[in-house]
This record gives sequence, structure tokens and C-alpha cells, in this order.
Amino acid sequence: PLYLDYGATTPLDPAVAAAMEPWGITGFGNPHSAHLWGYKAKAAVEAARAHVAALLNAPSEAIAFTSGATESNNWALKGLLTAPGQTRRRIVTLATEHSSVLETAHYLAGIGAQLSIVPVRADGLVDLGDLSRALGEDVALVSVMAVNNEIGVAQDLAAIGQLAHSVGAVFHVDAAQGFGKLPIDVEAMGIDLLSLTAHKCHGPKGVGALYRRPFTSITPLLHGGGQEDGRSGTLPTALIVGLGEAARIAAARMAADHAHALALRTALLAALTVPHQVNGSLDRRWPGNLSLSFPGVAVPLIQRLPGLAISAGSACAAVTGRASHVLTALGLSEPQAKASLRLGFGRFTTLAEIDAAAAQINAVVAAHLAEFA
Ligand code: PLP
Repeated sequence: PLYLDYGATTPLDPAVAAAMEPWGITGFGNPHSAHLWGYKAKAAVEAARAHVAALLNAPSEAIAFTSGATESNNWALKGLLTAPGQTRRRIVTLATEHSSVLETAHYLAGIGAQLSIVPVRADGLVDLGDLSRALGEDVALVSVMAVNNEIGVAQDLAAIGQLAHSVGAVFHVDAAQGFGKLPIDVEAMGIDLLSLTAHKCHGPKGVGALYRRPFTSITPLLHGGGQEDGRSGTLPTALIVGLGEAARIAAARMAADHAHALALRTALLAALTVPHQVNGSLDRRWPGNLSLSFPGVAVPLIQRLPGLAISAGSACAAVTGRASHVLTALGLSEPQAKASLRLGFGRFTTLAEIDAAAAQINAVVAAHLAEFA
């Protein structure tokens, strides 16, 4: 099948694979060792850290490597709410956040935190008035994602950062789907904590980072040797080099990648001949995401498209079989949500693949509509 599931994960860039290779084999030293093997690995890790930091306009010391965005989100939320001296108890987040934020927030709510989940508008964006009404001096953390994994919409981070700071709350951004794709500036956007992962921007799986604004106090999630400023565990040099290279390439190619994804999306929408509706704002989004629903179709279309490697909602929802909480938050019914298609494409996708995908979708939807006409 054609791979159009960049929201689930992206193909490893061959240049990233090449950069990683020596660090998985000959460069096996422990980056924490005080001898030549260690120093070499450490230098590679620090070069990667600088590339990640540069892409966020952050100082290198503010970047701690983790196993990915799930760990970073867990660390940000649990670490802040349980930090010594933390007197604020409330988390404010959105209905459309990733499960690694929502489930962590629910866990914390079960052990004494308070949780406010703000709804989104039908276009997937949060109403800033609604968000501001949910805020107060008891809020420890406002957590809002950069780019939604299911519908691609990009929230107004700078405005949300200002609102969070107006009540003295810490602003956390889950940038799993935004890092390396859209410009993110932790200074200009007032971001205090930011989660990122390599595998959504052509890096390897199993590595990510948490940006922590200097002096933001969070407790460790993983106690032990204390390697990453409190995040313990021997660093995976090859994976980190891969993340750094993915960040370096993304910085150089951001405008070109964006233009390519936009051209593909424009072609895909133009090639759809069946009635369709785009889920989420078409203007404020990463263009390499297109989430579609089809009026009159309420069957899981994905099962009828064996030629396309795509998903209905998130890859996680595919496992549970539940209707996407993101699409229902936009007002779609459960059957409509299950009938939706999420296409994800980008750097390595061709126009021919997009045309082929549109032809398959047209055929399946038209056949379904004819059957029930
Ligand atoms: N947050 C968002 C928005 C995501 O799309 C993902 C993807 O799976 C994650 C968090 C989790 O990232 P990871 O796979 O690195 O744990």
C-alpha cells in the first residue's frame, strides 16, 4: 500500500540514517564515561543538542533528551505538579490533546490535582476567551499542543503563552507534530516546557527531548544516575545523533518542506471528486495533514481502502477501536468520526502518490454513495 500516514510516523531520512550509523557500531562508548570513548560520544550528543536547541531558539542547556514525546509529556506534567514548593494544583488543557497529555492529567487528577479541559471550536482551534475564562491564580500549568496529530491544526501558541503567563502559570507545549515542521520560538511564544520527538520529522523512533526554561522547577520522572539534569539513564548516542541530524535538516528545509506539503495538499483536494469536508481549520495547520469526512458516509472507510496505509484518527485510536476524541470534540458523530480518513504526507511523498490516493478514495466513496442512493 501507499504510505500516507506521516501523522503516525515519518520515513527516516537517508541522511539521518547515515549520520547515525557509526554511533550504533564503532562509536559505542558511553557518553558519560571519562575516557576517549566517552568523550567522542559526548561530543556527538552535544552537537545534536545544539541542533535541537537552535531550532527552538533555546540555549543548549535547556534541552534534556528523553525516549520521546510520551515521556516528555509525562515528565512535564508530573514533574511540575509534584515539584518541591509547588502550591498550585490545577492543570488546564484542551479536549483535543494527545492521550499522553490527557491520560497523565487524569492520573494527576486522581492523586489530588484539579483538571480543567477546555473545549475547542468546530474548526479545532481553542477560543481564547474560553481559555482565558478557565484560567486563574490556582493554575500551575497550561498545556496546549503545537500541531494536532489527527487534524493538523496549529494553535496560536504566542497568544496562549501570554494568557498562561498573565496568571503566573507555566506554559507547556506538546510539539510532537510541530517540531521541525512549523517555526517554534520558545522566547517569542513564551513557552516554558516543550515536548518533542524525532520520529515525526524523519528521525528515529524512541528519542525525543524536553525543553525546560531555565529555573522552571520540575522533579525527575526517572531517578538514578542523574545524567540528563535529573533524567537518569545512559543516553542512546545513535538515536540522539539521529534527532540532531533530523533537526539540522528540518531547519535547512523547513520552507521547502512546507511548500511541498502545501502543493501536495492542494493537489489532493483538487483531485477529490466526491463530496467531502475537511476536519479542522484549513488555514491554520500543518499542510501535510488532511483529515477528511464524507457527508452521507458513516462506515469505517479505511477498511475499504487496502491500497492506502492511512488511519481514521490516531494510530493509538486504531488500536482501541474507539471513535477519535479529537473528531468528536469538533462535533462529529461517532460514526462520522469512524468514517473519517487522516492522510499524512510530506518530504518523500510524490504527486503521483497523491493522485493515486485520491483516485482510490473517489472510487470507494462514490461506490458507497451509489449503494445507498
Ligand atoms: N504527542 C503527539 C501530538 C503525538 O502525535 C505523539 C505521537 O505519537 C506523541 C505525543 C507521542 O510521541 P512518541 O511517539 O515520541 O512517544
